[in-house]
Amino acid sequence: MDRAPFANAALLRSWSCPEPDRCPYCPVDAPRHWTHAGRYSRYAGDPDEPSRRTDVPRYKCKIVGRTFSIPPDALLPYCGIRTGAVLELLRALLVQGIALNALARQAHAPRGTLRSLRARFLQVMPRLRLPWREGALGAADFLAALAAAGAAAVAHLFLGWKQREPKLSVLGVYAR
Ligand SMILES: [Zn+2]
Repeated sequence: MDRAPFANAALLRSWSCPEPDRCPYCPVDAPRHWTHAGRYSRYAGDPDEPSRRTDVPRYKCKIVGRTFSIPPDALLPYCGIRTGAVLELLRALLVQGIALNALARQAHAPRGTLRSLRARFLQVMPRLRLPWREGALGAADFLAALAAAGAAAVAHLFLGWKQREPKLSVLGVYAR
């Protein structure tokens, strides 16, 4: 069995930014009505090089005049840690039951970061649904289901969430 299903997944480390196939502000079936609107630079969540940045294209909805973007699979919106690492940390805390202090030492992650990841995840998770599982799941079951589904399914799922709700991703959650 893969002991780190998320961290080892190449897909969750991809830097290519997908082209949007919908606008988050408009009905899902609206024909393409957005234009390129430059790029923004954000931290790349690189543990070995924390100041490294990466460019993410920005798009502008011509109807509401607001911009949006889709971070690459390696990154989540509003989250400074890479996708695979985030899921691995959450799995350690909530599925494997590793104590926060122990994980902080093991993963060389600040305790405050782990605490806030966990809190944000527990806050947003009840609002997310896995398309292949009926109904709401507890945190451990949710993460176990993601791990079982595999990186391709996880990347696809996150892409859908990023496109539909740019401010509601598994961890990049800010109340609207
Ligand atoms: Zn739009």
